[in-house]
Amino acid sequence: MDLTLDRAKVRRHPDRGRYDRQTIDAILDEALVCHVSFVVDGEPRVLPTIPVRIEDAIYLHGAPAAAMLAVISRGEPIAVCATLVDGLVLARSVYNHSLNFRSVVVYGRGEEVMDHDEKMEALRQLVEHVAPGRSQEARMPNDREIRATRVVKVHIEEAAAKVRTGPPKDDQEDLDLPVWAGVLPFVPTWGDPIADDLLPPGVPLTASLATDGPLAGARP
Ligand SMILES: Cc1cc2nc3c(=O)[nH]c(=O)nc-3n(C[C@H](O)[C@H](O)[C@H](O)COP(=O)(O)OP(=O)(O)OC[C@H]3O[C@@H](n4cnc5c(N)ncnc54)[C@H](O)[C@@H]3O)c2cc1C
Repeated sequence: MDLTLDRAKVRRHPDRGRYDRQTIDAILDEALVCHVSFVVDGEPRVLPTIPVRIEDAIYLHGAPAAAMLAVISRGEPIAVCATLVDGLVLARSVYNHSLNFRSVVVYGRGEEVMDHDEKMEALRQLVEHVAPGRSQEARMPNDREIRATRVVKVHIEEAAAKVRTGPPKDDQEDLDLPVWAGVLPFVPTWGDPIADDLLPPGVPLTASLATDGPLAGARP
């Protein structure tokens, strides 16, 4: 695996480029959503989906007929992007406004996961990635549901992260303008659980949703 091939090099603000697996993995492991770009009949497409990284691969799942999963199953090259927004960077000038962010772009090829145990484990880890603790609480897929789900894994062959942190970077001549400047941190949080209308009476809130559970309050 070469994570620093030319295609993956960050050109604009190269100081923000990161190529170490620790940074890349941490961003992938925090992202609930990624965007997958692929080509169908010579035309570019991009779709949002849920990733889970397991070792050197990103696992994706969906309906067996999904074009994106078919392209990946055929081993054609694709790209995956995950983005985390950390703050609004408010500069004195509109031009220098920005976002603090952590993002990753991965290039790779994939394959369909055919092994039953690997498929189940990928789905379990996917659930844990999105809703920690939930795989212990909800019914796991039965054979029919497993057959109705295609799981693919994309090998992380080339990857780059780009990370912006810190205050605005205003031009020198704007520094004395009487305009507030700084950073507004962006902290995603879960709200209070809303019970399903069809929930039978007496079913308690599960541990993952309890006030000290992994799904309470702000995500890391
Ligand atoms: C939330 C968010 C908002 C942004 N908004 C803007 C905007 O409004 N305008 C704008 O010009 N740019 C924006 N960017 C930055 C943008 O993603 C690109 O980094 C930038 O436009 C061009 O970088 P480049 O010239 O290095 O790209 P290229 O030369 O096209 O990219 C070369 C390689 O660098 C790597 N790379 C580039 N950007 C990223 C990235 N963000 N994350 C991981 N790897 C990357 C990829 O591997 C890519 O193949 C935003 C980024 C984020 C995360």
